[in-house]
Amino acid sequence: MKTFDSFHFHFIVGTQTLYGPMVIEHVRAHAAAMAAFFNEHELMPARVIPEVVTSPEEIVSAFRKANADPACAGIITWMHTFSPSKMWIGGFAENAKPLLHLHTQFNREIPWDSIDMDFMNLNQSAHGDREHGFIQTRMGLARKVVVGYWQDDDVLNRIAAWMRGAVAFADGRLSRVARLGDNMREVAVTDGNKVSAQIRFGWQVNGYGIGEIARRYSDAEPHDIDAIIEQYQERYELPDSVRANSVRFEKVREQAAIEVALRRFLAETGAGAFTTTFEDLAGLPQLPGLAAQNLMADGYGFGAEGDWKTAALVRAMKTMAQGLLGGTSFMEDYTYHLEAGNELVLGAHMLEVCPSIAERKPRIEVHPLSIGGKDDPARLVFNAHPGNAVSATIVEYGNGFCLIVNEVEAVSLPRAMPHLPVARALWKPLPSFKEALELWILAGGAHHSSFSYAVTTEMLEDYARMAGIDIVVINSTTDTTLLRTELERKLRGSLQLQ
Ligand code: MN
Repeated sequence: MKTFDSFHFHFIVGTQTLYGPMVIEHVRAHAAAMAAFFNEHELMPARVIPEVVTSPEEIVSAFRKANADPACAGIITWMHTFSPSKMWIGGFAENAKPLLHLHTQFNREIPWDSIDMDFMNLNQSAHGDREHGFIQTRMGLARKVVVGYWQDDDVLNRIAAWMRGAVAFADGRLSRVARLGDNMREVAVTDGNKVSAQIRFGWQVNGYGIGEIARRYSDAEPHDIDAIIEQYQERYELPDSVRANSVRFEKVREQAAIEVALRRFLAETGAGAFTTTFEDLAGLPQLPGLAAQNLMADGYGFGAEGDWKTAALVRAMKTMAQGLLGGTSFMEDYTYHLEAGNELVLGAHMLEVCPSIAERKPRIEVHPLSIGGKDDPARLVFNAHPGNAVSATIVEYGNGFCLIVNEVEAVSLPRAMPHLPVARALWKPLPSFKEALELWILAGGAHHSSFSYAVTTEMLEDYARMAGIDIVVINSTTDTTLLRTELERKLRGSLQLQ
């Protein structure tokens, strides 16, 4: 049983007929042995299906099969022998799947004492894969190149990261993003071109009136609300101050009824992610807080204030993170601790932070919302756990999208903050607070992000390559002068296009 059982990958192994049928038989047996190893290995989150190709016709047919297979999330190629690359042009020209070129060799070591020309003819990846790489570069094909022995963990981890990115990319083409209400009025960074987004990422971002939820909220059956309340009690701490207080407990039941409505609506529309806005809540008593948090815990993407790009990114990163520890959440850079030498970012939101990143069991609380003029919403309050994490955001410049990633160190909260009634995370951006924030701001990075302890920069790089968008990575190895120069060059290019 793999983490992703509804997606798999095609493993296309290249050779040619020049060396006779015995060599092709060896190639077939080796491809099967490698696929079996990958499929049994715990590091690999999805299955591969091997296929050996020897001619242009077989290559085109292999790519057509992959293209026509909706469960195929990507293609891994490897040349066991030389496989002349003009044979591959037709297949690559039709390819519609993410590509990974595995540059490996079936034999780990040179058999010094027995090596002969038969061995040399069979084990030609060293030059067969160069010919293969040339044609992909010649055709301008984006792909990941992974080098090393196919049984080594570092090689498997790089393939696994790409598989996670590819499954998130495939999921993005299938699921929808439901926007409940429009963008928060006057806000720029959360908005953007939804047509471009669908062309790039496959995201179908569709708008709906909040009345869709209000109607289902009014129709929510008491037994469905009770079932959600039961789940709240299992997953979260429901203190007596809320449970025994009829006014407060009613606010929790209202969130449960909103959740019943949201779940029904998301299932009916096939949406894997959604947005809300506190400016458009007609017919609902509260802003979805606890409801949005509990939905995120089940893998739904979420963006506040109409932020559909972040909602889709949270969904994508939750998909990448499946089966990994650490959690992934919608996040906002909220306020700073500017103690000299110990500068920190306090991340939070009005309500909607995912409990998957909580340090301990989150507590349900009811407090007034400081803006929006609605009832006091129920929400989960908790601290995010310490650990390495990434903060990622997608922005649109008018001439393209960019994924901006900052690697950070989440730290324990030093004080209790008893008057802050929201979930929160505290982190140090890398390479340093000042460098990271300068570069993030210069790149136009948003205040909303997807924050994850499970997703790695490598998965995000792979995802960005599949979408054909730029990525800016800010981490401990960032050369600030170099990246600043690059961002300023990009800025001048962007000005010339407007
Ligand atoms: Mn916000």
